[in-house]
Amino acid sequence: MYDVAIIGGGPAGLAAAYNLEHAGQKVVLLEETGRLGGRAKTVDVHGEPVNMGAMFVYAGTASHELAVELDVALEPFEPTTFGIHVNGETVVSPDNDDLVERLPLTEHSRNGLRAFIRRATSEYYANTVDGQLRPATPGFGEESAQSRMSDLPQDVQEILTAAIRGGSVAHPAELSATYALRYFASYLVKEKRNRVVSLKGMEAIPAALAKALQSTEVRLHHRVESLHQNGKGHWNLQIATESDGGAGRKVTARHVIMAVPAPRISSMVQLPEWKSAALDAVQTPGSTELGVVVDISAPELAAVDDWSFIATAGRAFDVMINPRPGRKDGTAQFVCYGNTAGYIEEANDPTSGVLEHWVEEFLTVAPQLRGRILGASIQSWQHCFSLLTPTRATALPQLQAPIDGTLHFAGDYSSETAGTHGAYSEAKRVSQDILHAVSTATHG
Ligand SMILES: Cc1cc2nc3c(=O)[nH]c(=O)nc-3n(C[C@H](O)[C@H](O)[C@H](O)COP(=O)(O)OP(=O)(O)OC[C@H]3O[C@@H](n4cnc5c(N)ncnc54)[C@H](O)[C@@H]3O)c2cc1C
Repeated sequence: MYDVAIIGGGPAGLAAAYNLEHAGQKVVLLEETGRLGGRAKTVDVHGEPVNMGAMFVYAGTASHELAVELDVALEPFEPTTFGIHVNGETVVSPDNDDLVERLPLTEHSRNGLRAFIRRATSEYYANTVDGQLRPATPGFGEESAQSRMSDLPQDVQEILTAAIRGGSVAHPAELSATYALRYFASYLVKEKRNRVVSLKGMEAIPAALAKALQSTEVRLHHRVESLHQNGKGHWNLQIATESDGGAGRKVTARHVIMAVPAPRISSMVQLPEWKSAALDAVQTPGSTELGVVVDISAPELAAVDDWSFIATAGRAFDVMINPRPGRKDGTAQFVCYGNTAGYIEEANDPTSGVLEHWVEEFLTVAPQLRGRILGASIQSWQHCFSLLTPTRATALPQLQAPIDGTLHFAGDYSSETAGTHGAYSEAKRVSQDILHAVSTATHG
């Protein structure tokens, strides 16, 4: 019998285990795969840590606080250029007017794009303070990013949709104008104060949490199949493990935390209708990422060092991001985000040829890097990011509410924001709820 069983060894599950064992709880953490970290996944590509899932720590959020507490090495993300690939050409510039001027578009399209960029830039400065969102324009948050671009020429809309999808996952129609500032316009203005990079990759934060665990029993390759409450009000978890050949095991706990992507929950446990409806309101679309490490030591490739963010309209992916522009050591890495591409199951099979196809797409954007690729990796996610849509924002109280005071919900899906910061702050909230329930039960 455990005090708490945590389902899922991603950021939310690990942070909850860390908080709860500190407070003396007997905790078991069950993770279906052979690794911890969930969607904060970093792989080694030619000796470089490359993030195939979460990329940035957002300044001042719970993930930033945790990284500092756990001594994870950080460095600010300092973009100096913005780029656009369209009609077969890639243009990158530190100056947005110069960028637009050099794009292979008609004068009409260039004028539309220039006007949009100027407006987004001034809105950004009006609604942020020190790189943080502080909406000052009444009604701004209720408008969608799409409402800002519907009257633009089609080719300009395609460029902007790629940039917004790549920066935020969401389609502009699903994204509020406020969040478009955070996830898109911040790149346009080359904001240097809102994103921080973990030098060993994003997985270093959950890895540090896992390392700090002392009494928690961490069980890898343990997939929770189902759970139900027994007559005493405790939870019985049915688990499939690889070693059992599917025979299964059971764990019993007083409290359970569902720290898995929202779409996984309903199939595991019978829920009241209000909870199922709230979970249905969570949109967690799929996404595919290509990570590439390149040799840019040749003098003619020096400019590539400063490439920070390139919107790649019409390619397999939406944007290319270099998390450490200007590092000046002869190599660079680019993560190509395919949010429009969504989940491509076969991409996770190394023999499928998807990696090779995406690398060719990368070389179409950056032909000067042919022959300079040191390594590449691809990963596709069925559930990538819990979008902060107005529907999820409305359902938040129901998403957070426990069942019977003992079945708890914590992950990016139940957070006021999204991302790892949302997952870490939800772990904190739920841990406090459990400790409060334990202390009430003990002291009456
Ligand atoms: C491409 C991409 C880019 C992103 N960019 C950023 C970013 O820049 N910054 C940021 O902060 N966030 C970013 N995110 C989002 C961030 O990764 C997630 O919000 C965060 O990982 C959510 O944490 P979680 O613990 O809620 O869920 P997860 O990380 O998904 O962890 C859940 C864990 O549960 C396990 N699991 C699932 N089902 C079961 C089961 N039945 N039994 C046992 N275990 C189970 C999974 O294997 C997984 O390990 C990005 C994500 C992706 C995919």
